Amino acid sequence: MIAAAATDRGRARTNNEDSVFADAARGILIVADGMGGHLGGEVASRLAVEVISANLLSAPPQLEPSRLLAEALDAANLAIWQTAAADSSLTGMGTTVAVVLVRDDELWLAHAGDSRIYLFRQGRLERLTRDHTLVEQMVEAGELTPEQARVHPLRNVISRCLGTEPTAEPEIRKATWKQGDSVLLCSDGLTGMLEDEEIAQVLSEQKAPPDALCRKLIDLANERGGWDNISVVLARHTG
Ligand code: CA
Repeated sequence: MIAAAATDRGRARTNNEDSVFADAARGILIVADGMGGHLGGEVASRLAVEVISANLLSAPPQLEPSRLLAEALDAANLAIWQTAAADSSLTGMGTTVAVVLVRDDELWLAHAGDSRIYLFRQGRLERLTRDHTLVEQMVEAGELTPEQARVHPLRNVISRCLGTEPTAEPEIRKATWKQGDSVLLCSDGLTGMLEDEEIAQVLSEQKAPPDALCRKLIDLANERGGWDNISVVLARHTG
């Protein structure tokens, strides 16, 4: 596989609280979107990426992927929780996380919060994660349509993340991909600005390298206003 990661402050925020990671050789992809006052958001997302990538890189390869992911996210959760407890300026910090561990044709997914993982196959974009947000719960309960959820005043309220509780509750599952497919991880700074169809249109340029497509998605989100930090990790199964 080939992969690229890019993150951008956007046009409205004064700092970037997102963190990204991509290691194509080891099949590790991560997006984290931090939150919290002062420097909390930046610290939380950076810690998440550091601890999760270090755990995944150092683990024995025979370890079962879902267990490996659970342990890596637990370790990150604890690191953020403990760092916040030790520094009053970081109280309450947390971060979303979206992680993909690639094992040949298997995609092992772990996420908490509203950062998303998509599969792009033959021109079609399929969302592989559900947002852990209040509005997504309301959509599932039939109280809101997806269109209403998109513009709802409480759309940023997330129901799960890392770092704000002593234990994490990520969602972990397996998907599969094949030659020609791409997997996209992104923060809500991308999906809040662009419709899925627009993202799919950019990803359809299969001849362009992943880093060029990441840049193009970020540029497009900025053209639409760039209200939030924008992060994109893109990997392509090259067979
Ligand atoms: Ca965000």
